[in-house]
Amino acid sequence: KIKTLPNIEQVKEKRHQHLAKILSVSYKKPIYVEKATFQYMYDAYGNTFLDAYNNIPHVGHSHPKVVKAGQEQMAKLNTNTRYLYEILNIYAEKLLSKFPPSLSKVFFVTSGSEANDLAIRMAKKHTGHSNVMVVEHGYHGHTQADIDISDYKFNNPKGQGQKKHVVKTIIPDTYRGRFTKNDGTAGKQYAEIAINDIKTSPNKIAAFIAEPIVGCGGQIPLAKGYLKPVYEAIRAQDGICISDEVQTGFGRLGDHFWGYEAENVIPDMVVIGKPIGNGHPMAAVICTDEIADSFNTGVEFFTSFGGNPVSCAIGLAVLEVIEEENLQENARIIGNYYKEEFALLQKKFPCIGDIRGSGLFLGFDIIKDNTTEADTELAHHIKNELRERNILISTDGPADNVLKTKPPLIFTKKDVDIVIQNTKIILENHYNEK
Ligand code: PMP
Repeated sequence: KIKTLPNIEQVKEKRHQHLAKILSVSYKKPIYVEKATFQYMYDAYGNTFLDAYNNIPHVGHSHPKVVKAGQEQMAKLNTNTRYLYEILNIYAEKLLSKFPPSLSKVFFVTSGSEANDLAIRMAKKHTGHSNVMVVEHGYHGHTQADIDISDYKFNNPKGQGQKKHVVKTIIPDTYRGRFTKNDGTAGKQYAEIAINDIKTSPNKIAAFIAEPIVGCGGQIPLAKGYLKPVYEAIRAQDGICISDEVQTGFGRLGDHFWGYEAENVIPDMVVIGKPIGNGHPMAAVICTDEIADSFNTGVEFFTSFGGNPVSCAIGLAVLEVIEEENLQENARIIGNYYKEEFALLQKKFPCIGDIRGSGLFLGFDIIKDNTTEADTELAHHIKNELRERNILISTDGPADNVLKTKPPLIFTKKDVDIVIQNTKIILENHYNEK
Protein backbone atom coordinates (compact mmCIF):
# COMPACT_ATOMS: atom_id res chain seq x y z
CA LYS A 1 0.00 0.00 0.00
CA ILE A 2 1.43 3.37 -0.98
CA LYS A 3 1.29 5.88 1.84
CA THR A 4 -0.26 9.20 0.87
CA LEU A 5 1.70 12.11 2.25
CA PRO A 6 -0.21 14.58 4.40
CA ASN A 7 -0.92 18.00 2.99
CA ILE A 8 0.22 20.58 5.56
CA GLU A 9 -2.48 23.10 4.62
CA GLN A 10 -5.20 20.48 5.05
CA VAL A 11 -3.77 19.37 8.38
CA LYS A 12 -3.71 22.99 9.57
CA GLU A 13 -7.27 23.56 8.39
CA LYS A 14 -8.51 20.44 10.18
CA ARG A 15 -6.72 21.55 13.35
CA HIS A 16 -8.48 24.91 13.23
CA GLN A 17 -11.81 23.19 12.81
CA HIS A 18 -11.52 21.52 16.19
CA LEU A 19 -8.93 23.47 18.14
CA ALA A 20 -8.80 27.14 18.99
CA LYS A 21 -6.53 29.37 16.94
CA ILE A 22 -4.78 30.51 20.11
CA LEU A 23 -2.74 27.28 19.96
CA SER A 24 0.43 28.34 18.20
CA VAL A 25 2.63 26.34 15.85
CA SER A 26 6.39 26.78 15.62
CA TYR A 27 8.15 28.04 12.48
CA LYS A 28 6.93 29.72 9.31
CA LYS A 29 6.92 26.25 7.80
CA PRO A 30 5.42 24.01 10.51
CA ILE A 31 6.76 20.53 11.09
CA TYR A 32 4.43 17.54 10.79
CA VAL A 33 6.14 15.12 13.14
CA GLU A 34 5.60 11.42 13.09
CA LYS A 35 8.10 10.04 15.59
CA ALA A 36 11.15 10.97 17.63
CA THR A 37 14.09 9.09 19.12
CA PHE A 38 16.91 10.48 21.28
CA GLN A 39 17.91 13.90 19.83
CA TYR A 40 16.11 13.33 16.54
CA MET A 41 12.59 14.10 15.36
CA TYR A 42 11.24 12.66 12.12
CA ASP A 43 8.55 14.20 9.95
CA ALA A 44 6.00 12.48 7.76
CA TYR A 45 8.01 13.20 4.59
CA GLY A 46 11.14 11.29 5.54
CA ASN A 47 13.13 14.21 7.00
CA THR A 48 15.23 13.90 10.14
CA PHE A 49 15.53 16.93 12.41
CA LEU A 50 18.24 17.53 14.97
CA ASP A 51 16.43 18.63 18.13
CA ALA A 52 18.47 21.41 19.73
CA TYR A 53 15.43 22.82 21.44
CA ASN A 54 13.24 20.45 23.42
CA ASN A 55 14.13 20.08 27.08
CA ILE A 56 11.20 17.90 28.11
CA PRO A 57 12.64 14.74 26.48
CA HIS A 58 15.50 15.23 28.92
CA VAL A 59 17.22 11.86 28.50
CA GLY A 60 16.25 11.64 24.83
CA HIS A 61 12.96 11.25 22.97
CA SER A 62 11.40 7.81 23.57
CA HIS A 63 14.33 6.60 25.67
CA PRO A 64 13.87 2.78 25.71
CA LYS A 65 14.37 2.41 29.47
CA VAL A 66 11.76 5.07 30.23
CA VAL A 67 9.32 3.69 27.66
CA LYS A 68 9.72 0.15 29.03
CA ALA A 69 9.22 1.29 32.63
CA GLY A 70 5.95 3.00 31.66
CA GLN A 71 4.71 0.12 29.52
CA GLU A 72 5.42 -2.52 32.16
CA GLN A 73 3.80 -0.54 34.97
CA MET A 74 0.78 0.32 32.81
CA ALA A 75 0.24 -3.36 32.12
CA LYS A 76 0.42 -4.16 35.85
CA LEU A 77 -1.28 -1.45 37.86
CA ASN A 78 -2.36 2.16 37.56
CA THR A 79 -4.31 3.73 40.38
CA ASN A 80 -4.16 6.68 42.77
CA THR A 81 -2.54 7.60 46.05
CA ARG A 82 -5.53 6.53 48.15
CA TYR A 83 -4.07 3.01 47.85
CA LEU A 84 -0.72 1.86 49.14
CA TYR A 85 1.79 0.77 46.51
CA GLU A 86 5.51 0.30 46.76
CA ILE A 87 6.70 2.35 43.81
CA LEU A 88 5.36 5.61 45.27
CA ASN A 89 7.61 5.21 48.32
CA ILE A 90 10.59 4.09 46.26
CA TYR A 91 10.29 7.00 43.86
CA ALA A 92 9.64 9.62 46.56
CA GLU A 93 12.73 8.46 48.43
CA LYS A 94 14.88 8.48 45.31
CA LEU A 95 13.68 11.94 44.24
CA LEU A 96 14.12 13.45 47.71
CA SER A 97 17.67 12.04 47.85
CA LYS A 98 18.47 14.71 45.25
CA PHE A 99 17.59 17.48 47.75
CA PRO A 100 19.13 18.65 51.03
CA PRO A 101 17.62 17.09 54.21
CA SER A 102 15.48 20.17 54.98
CA LEU A 103 13.49 19.58 51.77
CA SER A 104 11.87 16.42 52.97
CA LYS A 105 8.33 16.24 51.62
CA VAL A 106 7.04 15.87 48.08
CA PHE A 107 3.60 16.49 46.56
CA PHE A 108 3.15 14.85 43.16
CA VAL A 109 0.98 16.58 40.55
CA THR A 110 0.70 16.50 36.77
CA SER A 111 2.00 19.80 35.38
CA GLY A 112 4.35 22.62 36.25
CA SER A 113 1.37 24.98 36.33
CA GLU A 114 -0.44 22.82 38.85
CA ALA A 115 2.72 22.56 40.96
CA ASN A 116 3.23 26.34 41.10
CA ASP A 117 -0.43 26.91 41.83
CA LEU A 118 -0.18 24.47 44.74
CA ALA A 119 3.11 25.97 45.96
CA ILE A 120 1.59 29.45 46.18
CA ARG A 121 -1.49 28.10 47.95
CA MET A 122 0.70 26.29 50.48
CA ALA A 123 2.92 29.33 50.98
CA LYS A 124 -0.11 31.50 51.74
CA LYS A 125 -1.45 28.89 54.15
CA HIS A 126 1.90 28.48 55.92
CA THR A 127 2.67 32.17 56.32
CA GLY A 128 -0.79 33.67 56.59
CA HIS A 129 0.47 36.40 54.25
CA SER A 130 -1.17 37.31 50.95
CA ASN A 131 1.41 38.93 48.67
CA VAL A 132 3.68 37.16 46.22
CA MET A 133 6.93 38.64 44.95
CA VAL A 134 7.89 37.77 41.38
CA VAL A 135 10.69 38.58 38.99
CA GLU A 136 10.10 40.62 35.84
CA HIS A 137 9.59 38.45 32.70
CA GLY A 138 9.08 35.30 34.80
CA TYR A 139 6.69 32.54 33.78
CA HIS A 140 5.18 30.03 36.17
CA GLY A 141 2.18 28.49 34.42
CA HIS A 142 -1.25 28.86 32.90
CA THR A 143 -3.74 28.61 35.80
CA GLN A 144 -5.26 31.90 36.94
CA ALA A 145 -3.06 31.94 40.06
CA ASP A 146 0.00 31.28 37.89
CA ILE A 147 -0.87 33.92 35.30
CA ASP A 148 -1.21 36.38 38.18
CA ILE A 149 2.42 35.73 39.16
CA SER A 150 3.82 35.52 35.60
CA ASP A 151 4.94 38.92 34.37
CA TYR A 152 5.54 37.33 30.95
CA LYS A 153 1.75 36.85 30.69
CA PHE A 154 0.08 39.54 32.81
CA ASN A 155 2.35 42.24 31.46
CA ASN A 156 1.58 41.45 27.83
CA PRO A 157 -0.23 44.46 26.28
CA LYS A 158 -3.21 42.12 25.86
CA GLY A 159 -2.76 40.49 29.27
CA GLN A 160 -4.69 40.97 32.50
CA GLY A 161 -2.29 43.40 34.14
CA GLN A 162 -0.66 43.22 37.54
CA LYS A 163 -2.88 42.22 40.45
CA LYS A 164 -2.72 44.01 43.78
CA HIS A 165 -1.26 41.06 45.68
CA VAL A 166 1.70 40.82 43.32
CA VAL A 167 4.98 42.61 43.95
CA LYS A 168 7.17 42.66 40.87
CA THR A 169 10.89 43.25 41.16
CA ILE A 170 13.18 44.02 38.22
CA ILE A 171 15.08 41.21 36.58
CA PRO A 172 18.70 41.08 37.76
CA ASP A 173 20.02 41.04 34.18
CA THR A 174 23.73 41.76 33.82
CA TYR A 175 23.66 42.10 30.04
CA ARG A 176 20.99 44.64 29.22
CA GLY A 177 20.03 45.68 32.74
CA ARG A 178 20.92 48.64 34.94
CA PHE A 179 23.86 46.89 36.65
CA THR A 180 26.26 44.74 34.66
CA LYS A 181 29.23 43.77 36.83
CA ASN A 182 28.54 40.08 37.35
CA ASP A 183 31.13 39.41 40.04
CA GLY A 184 28.58 39.78 42.81
CA THR A 185 28.46 43.57 42.55
CA ALA A 186 25.41 43.72 40.29
CA GLY A 187 23.75 40.93 42.27
CA LYS A 188 24.06 42.99 45.43
CA GLN A 189 22.77 46.13 43.70
CA TYR A 190 19.76 44.30 42.28
CA ALA A 191 19.15 42.65 45.66
CA GLU A 192 19.00 46.09 47.29
CA ILE A 193 16.20 47.03 44.91
CA ALA A 194 14.35 43.78 45.67
CA ILE A 195 14.80 44.29 49.41
CA ASN A 196 13.34 47.76 49.07
CA ASP A 197 10.39 46.23 47.18
CA ILE A 198 9.90 43.81 50.07
CA LYS A 199 10.07 46.58 52.67
CA THR A 200 7.66 48.86 50.84
CA SER A 201 5.13 46.12 50.04
CA PRO A 202 1.81 47.19 51.62
CA ASN A 203 1.20 43.62 52.81
CA LYS A 204 3.70 41.03 53.95
CA ILE A 205 5.05 38.67 51.30
CA ALA A 206 4.00 35.03 51.56
CA ALA A 207 6.38 33.82 48.88
CA PHE A 208 9.17 34.98 46.61
CA ILE A 209 9.25 32.86 43.46
CA ALA A 210 12.02 32.92 40.87
CA GLU A 211 13.57 30.77 38.17
CA PRO A 212 17.37 30.48 38.49
CA ILE A 213 17.64 31.33 34.78
CA VAL A 214 14.61 33.24 33.54
CA GLY A 215 13.65 31.30 30.40
CA CYS A 216 10.92 33.51 28.99
CA GLY A 217 13.07 36.56 29.83
CA GLY A 218 15.48 35.23 27.17
CA GLN A 219 17.55 32.74 29.20
CA ILE A 220 18.68 35.34 31.73
CA PRO A 221 20.63 33.96 34.70
CA LEU A 222 19.91 35.84 37.94
CA ALA A 223 22.96 38.00 38.69
CA LYS A 224 25.53 36.25 40.91
CA GLY A 225 25.03 36.98 44.60
CA TYR A 226 21.43 38.09 44.15
CA LEU A 227 19.43 35.26 45.69
CA LYS A 228 21.08 35.03 49.10
CA PRO A 229 20.28 38.56 50.37
CA VAL A 230 16.80 38.42 48.81
CA TYR A 231 16.08 35.07 50.52
CA GLU A 232 17.26 36.56 53.82
CA ALA A 233 14.97 39.57 53.48
CA ILE A 234 11.97 37.40 52.56
CA ARG A 235 12.59 35.17 55.56
CA ALA A 236 13.11 38.16 57.86
CA GLN A 237 9.44 39.02 57.29
CA ASP A 238 8.41 35.34 57.66
CA GLY A 239 7.93 34.65 53.96
CA ILE A 240 9.10 31.59 52.08
CA CYS A 241 11.41 31.24 49.10
CA ILE A 242 10.42 29.16 46.08
CA SER A 243 12.77 28.08 43.30
CA ASP A 244 10.93 27.28 40.07
CA GLU A 245 13.17 24.59 38.58
CA VAL A 246 10.67 23.43 35.97
CA GLN A 247 13.13 24.37 33.21
CA THR A 248 16.46 24.26 34.99
CA GLY A 249 16.29 21.09 37.07
CA PHE A 250 17.56 17.52 36.78
CA GLY A 251 21.18 18.28 35.91
CA ARG A 252 20.50 20.38 32.82
CA LEU A 253 22.71 23.20 34.10
CA GLY A 254 25.72 20.87 34.21
CA ASP A 255 27.53 22.20 37.27
CA HIS A 256 24.55 21.54 39.52
CA PHE A 257 21.54 19.25 39.69
CA TRP A 258 19.27 22.17 40.70
CA GLY A 259 19.76 25.79 39.70
CA TYR A 260 19.60 27.21 43.24
CA GLU A 261 22.69 25.21 44.22
CA ALA A 262 24.89 27.56 42.18
CA GLU A 263 24.01 30.36 44.58
CA ASN A 264 24.55 28.44 47.80
CA VAL A 265 21.01 28.91 49.00
CA ILE A 266 18.40 26.38 50.05
CA PRO A 267 14.83 27.28 49.12
CA ASP A 268 11.85 26.40 51.32
CA MET A 269 10.07 25.00 48.30
CA VAL A 270 11.19 23.75 44.91
CA VAL A 271 8.85 23.31 41.97
CA ILE A 272 9.83 20.75 39.33
CA GLY A 273 8.18 19.52 36.14
CA LYS A 274 8.83 19.19 32.39
CA PRO A 275 11.84 16.79 32.26
CA ILE A 276 10.76 14.89 35.39
CA GLY A 277 8.86 12.36 33.26
CA ASN A 278 10.72 12.82 29.95
CA GLY A 279 7.40 13.81 28.33
CA HIS A 280 4.99 11.93 30.58
CA PRO A 281 2.85 14.60 32.34
CA MET A 282 4.29 14.87 35.83
CA ALA A 283 5.43 17.60 38.22
CA ALA A 284 6.04 18.02 41.93
CA VAL A 285 6.35 20.45 44.81
CA ILE A 286 9.16 19.72 47.26
CA CYS A 287 8.99 21.45 50.64
CA THR A 288 10.00 21.38 54.28
CA ASP A 289 8.23 19.33 56.95
CA GLU A 290 6.89 22.55 58.50
CA ILE A 291 5.25 23.77 55.29
CA ALA A 292 3.75 20.31 54.67
CA ASP A 293 2.42 20.28 58.24
CA SER A 294 0.76 23.69 57.83
CA PHE A 295 -1.07 22.31 54.81
CA ASN A 296 -2.48 19.50 56.94
CA THR A 297 -5.61 21.52 57.52
CA GLY A 298 -8.17 18.73 57.72
CA VAL A 299 -9.30 19.43 54.16
CA GLU A 300 -7.96 16.57 52.06
CA PHE A 301 -5.38 17.21 49.37
CA PHE A 302 -6.00 14.85 46.47
CA THR A 303 -5.23 14.70 42.78
CA SER A 304 -6.46 11.85 40.58
CA PHE A 305 -3.21 11.37 38.72
CA GLY A 306 -0.40 12.86 40.82
CA GLY A 307 1.94 10.13 42.04
CA ASN A 308 0.19 7.32 40.17
CA PRO A 309 2.25 4.13 39.80
CA VAL A 310 2.90 4.62 36.08
CA SER A 311 4.22 8.14 36.65
CA CYS A 312 6.37 6.91 39.53
CA ALA A 313 7.87 4.13 37.39
CA ILE A 314 8.63 6.61 34.62
CA GLY A 315 10.07 9.23 36.99
CA LEU A 316 12.27 6.61 38.62
CA ALA A 317 13.56 5.43 35.24
CA VAL A 318 14.40 9.04 34.27
CA LEU A 319 16.47 9.52 37.44
CA GLU A 320 18.25 6.21 36.84
CA VAL A 321 19.09 7.09 33.24
CA ILE A 322 20.47 10.51 34.28
CA GLU A 323 22.83 8.67 36.66
CA GLU A 324 23.67 5.67 34.45
CA GLU A 325 24.45 7.81 31.42
CA ASN A 326 26.21 10.54 33.41
CA LEU A 327 23.99 13.14 31.77
CA GLN A 328 24.61 16.02 34.17
CA GLU A 329 28.32 15.77 33.36
CA ASN A 330 27.51 15.53 29.65
CA ALA A 331 25.40 18.69 29.95
CA ARG A 332 28.39 20.46 31.54
CA ILE A 333 30.95 19.33 28.94
CA ILE A 334 28.77 19.76 25.86
CA GLY A 335 27.27 23.01 27.18
CA ASN A 336 30.73 24.51 27.66
CA TYR A 337 31.78 23.37 24.20
CA TYR A 338 28.57 24.86 22.73
CA LYS A 339 29.32 28.23 24.38
CA GLU A 340 32.96 28.18 23.25
CA GLU A 341 31.99 27.42 19.68
CA PHE A 342 29.34 30.12 19.68
CA ALA A 343 31.91 32.55 21.08
CA LEU A 344 34.03 31.85 17.98
CA LEU A 345 31.05 32.79 15.82
CA GLN A 346 30.58 35.91 17.94
CA LYS A 347 34.09 37.05 16.96
CA LYS A 348 33.09 36.90 13.30
CA PHE A 349 29.55 38.19 13.49
CA PRO A 350 28.73 41.40 15.43
CA CYS A 351 25.04 40.43 15.59
CA ILE A 352 25.77 37.95 18.39
CA GLY A 353 25.52 40.11 21.47
CA ASP A 354 25.58 37.82 24.44
CA ILE A 355 26.11 34.13 25.06
CA ARG A 356 24.65 33.04 28.35
CA GLY A 357 23.22 30.25 30.43
CA SER A 358 24.67 27.10 31.86
CA GLY A 359 25.08 23.50 30.71
CA LEU A 360 22.51 22.73 28.05
CA PHE A 361 20.26 25.68 28.88
CA LEU A 362 21.64 28.46 26.71
CA GLY A 363 20.64 31.71 25.07
CA PHE A 364 22.32 33.60 22.25
CA ASP A 365 21.21 37.22 22.17
CA ILE A 366 20.86 38.54 18.60
CA ILE A 367 21.41 42.29 18.29
CA LYS A 368 21.73 45.09 15.75
CA ASP A 369 25.49 45.04 15.07
CA ASN A 370 27.62 46.28 17.97
CA THR A 371 24.73 47.63 20.05
CA THR A 372 22.57 45.96 22.69
CA GLU A 373 19.44 46.64 20.66
CA ALA A 374 17.46 43.46 19.95
CA ASP A 375 17.30 42.24 16.34
CA THR A 376 14.11 40.21 16.39
CA GLU A 377 13.91 39.90 12.64
CA LEU A 378 17.38 38.42 12.33
CA ALA A 379 16.80 36.02 15.25
CA HIS A 380 13.64 34.77 13.53
CA HIS A 381 15.51 34.51 10.25
CA ILE A 382 18.20 32.34 11.88
CA LYS A 383 15.58 30.17 13.59
CA ASN A 384 13.60 29.62 10.38
CA GLU A 385 16.71 29.06 8.26
CA LEU A 386 17.95 26.48 10.76
CA ARG A 387 14.58 24.79 10.47
CA GLU A 388 15.05 24.72 6.67
CA ARG A 389 18.30 22.95 7.43
CA ASN A 390 16.53 20.44 9.70
CA ILE A 391 17.77 21.90 12.97
CA LEU A 392 15.30 22.82 15.69
CA ILE A 393 15.96 25.85 17.86
CA SER A 394 13.63 28.57 19.18
CA THR A 395 13.52 32.24 20.14
CA ASP A 396 12.34 33.93 23.32
CA GLY A 397 12.71 37.02 25.50
CA PRO A 398 10.66 40.22 25.70
CA ALA A 399 11.83 41.17 22.19
CA ASP A 400 11.84 37.52 21.05
CA ASN A 401 15.41 37.97 19.79
CA VAL A 402 17.21 35.37 21.90
CA LEU A 403 18.03 32.05 20.26
CA LYS A 404 17.04 29.50 22.84
CA THR A 405 18.68 26.10 22.88
CA LYS A 406 18.04 23.42 25.50
CA PRO A 407 18.41 20.04 23.81
CA PRO A 408 18.05 16.57 25.34
CA LEU A 409 21.06 16.00 27.61
CA ILE A 410 22.45 13.29 25.32
CA PHE A 411 23.47 16.01 22.85
CA THR A 412 27.01 15.45 21.49
CA LYS A 413 29.88 17.65 20.26
CA LYS A 414 29.05 16.50 16.75
CA ASP A 415 25.48 17.79 17.22
CA VAL A 416 26.86 21.13 18.41
CA ASP A 417 29.12 21.25 15.34
CA ILE A 418 26.08 20.79 13.10
CA VAL A 419 24.27 23.72 14.78
CA ILE A 420 27.38 25.91 14.62
CA GLN A 421 28.29 25.12 10.99
CA ASN A 422 24.77 25.83 9.80
CA THR A 423 24.41 29.02 11.86
CA LYS A 424 27.71 30.16 10.37
CA ILE A 425 26.50 29.61 6.80
CA ILE A 426 23.21 31.39 7.55
CA LEU A 427 25.05 34.38 9.00
CA GLU A 428 27.61 34.48 6.18
CA ASN A 429 24.76 34.57 3.69
CA HIS A 430 23.04 37.24 5.74
CA TYR A 431 26.09 39.52 5.80
CA ASN A 432 26.84 38.88 2.11
CA GLU A 433 23.32 39.98 1.20
CA LYS A 434 23.51 43.07 3.39
N1 PMP B 1 7.43 27.17 35.31
C1 PMP B 1 8.29 27.41 34.31
C2 PMP B 1 9.60 28.07 34.61
C3 PMP B 1 7.97 27.04 33.00
O1 PMP B 1 8.83 27.28 32.01
C4 PMP B 1 6.73 26.41 32.75
C5 PMP B 1 6.33 25.97 31.36
N2 PMP B 1 6.91 26.60 30.30
C6 PMP B 1 5.86 26.20 33.82
C7 PMP B 1 6.25 26.57 35.08
C8 PMP B 1 4.51 25.57 33.61
O2 PMP B 1 4.63 24.21 33.38
P1 PMP B 1 3.53 23.41 32.53
O3 PMP B 1 3.59 23.89 31.13
O4 PMP B 1 3.96 21.96 32.71
O5 PMP B 1 2.21 23.64 33.18
